[in-house]
Formats: sequence, C-alpha cells, structure tokens
Amino acid sequence: MSPLNLSLNFDLHCHSNVSDGVLEPASLLERAAVQKVDVLALTDHDDVAGLDVARQHAQRLGIRFIDGVEISVSWRQQTLHVIGLNVGHRNVALLAGLAGIREGRKERAVRIAAQLAKVGITDALAGAWRHAGNTELIGRMHFARYLVAQGVCQDVQAVFNRYLTKGKPGYVSHQWADLRDVVEWIRLSGGRAVLAHPGRYPLNAGKMRTLLTEFCDAGGEAIEVATSNHTPEQRSNFAGLARRFNLMASRGSDFHSPEESWRELGRLPALPETCLPVWHDWNIV
Ligand code: AMP
Ligand code: MN
Ligand code: MN
Ligand code: MN
Repeated sequence: MSPLNLSLNFDLHCHSNVSDGVLEPASLLERAAVQKVDVLALTDHDDVAGLDVARQHAQRLGIRFIDGVEISVSWRQQTLHVIGLNVGHRNVALLAGLAGIREGRKERAVRIAAQLAKVGITDALAGAWRHAGNTELIGRMHFARYLVAQGVCQDVQAVFNRYLTKGKPGYVSHQWADLRDVVEWIRLSGGRAVLAHPGRYPLNAGKMRTLLTEFCDAGGEAIEVATSNHTPEQRSNFAGLARRFNLMASRGSDFHSPEESWRELGRLPALPETCLPVWHDWNIV
C-alpha cells in the first residue's frame, strides 16, 4: 500500500442526478473538491451512465475517481444494496443486469402512483418523472420530491415516513435482483462487491451473520464500516464482523443532496484501525 493512501479522504458512496441525487455529476465533483475529497466513487443506483462525465470532471479537479454503482437486491424479503467498486462499466453482463433492474423500477413506479392515487394524490407518475434527471431511472426519492413540491409534506423524510415505507399507502413490495447474480455481475466486470450500510437493515445478529456468510460465499469482498448513518457502536460492531468474516472495509457518505440531509461528501469518521481498507491494494498516488 502506498503510505499516501493512509491520509487520503476516501468517499466511496454518493449519488448524482443519474439516480436519486440532485446534483449533476459535474456539480457533484465540484462539491467533492470543495469538501477536500481525495478519492471519490460515484455509486448511482442501478445505473452507470454518469461515470464517464464524472471522471472527466474529476480529472479536471485533481480528484482520483473510482467507477462505482449501487445495486438493488432482494434477499429473503429484505431489500439490500450492494456497491460495486472499480466496475467495468461497459461490461455486457453488468449493463444487462442493471437495465433489467431499471425496467423493474419503471413498472414499480406505475404501481406506486396507483397506490398514491387511492389516497388522493394524483398525477404522481408524471410528477415523479419530472423530478428524475435520467429518463431511464425512477425511484422513491423522485416521488418524495414531487410530493414536497406539491406541498403534501414539508420534506422528503416526512414523505418516506408517511407514504413510502412499508405499511404506508404508497409503498409497494418489489422483487429486485438476486444477491448471487449481482455479486457475479460486479465480479465479471472486474469490480469488488461491497455490502452497503449494513446497519440500516432490520436484521438481528444471527440473520446478519447468515447474510454475511452468503455474501462471502457469493464472492462479496467488503462491507461499509464508516457510513454517515452508522453510530459509533455500529461502526465498531461492523469492524468486528469485517474481521471475523475476512471482509475488507469501506467508507462512504451516501451523499444525495446539499439540502435534504446533514450528510456531506467526505465528512465522516475514519475506518477503525483494525480494518483492512477496501482500497489497500489500489494503485493511487
Ligand atoms: P428506491 O431504491 O427507489 O426504493 O429508493 C431508495 C432510496 O430512497 C434510498 O437510496 C434513499 O435515497 C431514499 N430513502 C429510503 N428510505 C428513506 C427514508 N426513510 N428517508 C429518506 N430517504 C429514504
Ligand atoms: Mn438513494
Ligand atoms: Mn443504499
Ligand atoms: Mn446510496
């Protein structure tokens, strides 16, 4: 490992308006430069369309850039997110897999809009699409922004709480991709699979061990240990699990927008010293 890597500010998880972030890739990279991010991975949900332009801006700004993606998975009734780092974003298997998930998103959006119509919220499908920066990708965040713009709720967090989470009127269940398939697409493309924000899943300790066992078995290589939403206890818990399962550790803010939350690019704790960073063998100087 280059000794320089130790002192670099890595942010390996964030979103542009190619998925459900609000900034265009160019503005995202400019913000990363202001926030003194040294190494940034753009990890849009289920799409790699922002990577080429993001890399160009990274080069202009002197930021080391990693090609990433955050892929939606269904595992035993639970939605999980798996990040691919250093993915080959022209790989046919990966591109076909992501295209399939995006088609599923479009079909789910129709069902979400139908549910919202039942509680008197009209035109939500067209409204949500107007908030999407990519004609190929729609998600719950676009519905949330439409409902805020309509004055239905004060902020996107309130929309999720009242309409878009399990048991709420605009929630629909959805079958995402299979864990094994997703890890395989990432690996076939030359990337490394990272389980995103493990502390966000409602899994007890035993179920989490089962998940990590299956994730490793499928070829997963790392988990996020430092993320904006982990408490210090979760950070040390997942650092311990990373060691136990021989997984590398990643660090990422999950930044989406300057306004919608307190999360900021590059602004998060360091990895605990017991962790093997997912970037330990990257050749970056
Ligand atoms: P989707 O993949 O379309 O189901 O949307 C998931 C995205 O919605 C996440 O990546 C977050 O950006 C956002 N999200 C999910 N749950 C919440 C929540 N409770 N509050 C705010 N945003 C959320
Ligand atoms: Mn998101
Ligand atoms: Mn996620
Ligand atoms: Mn994310």
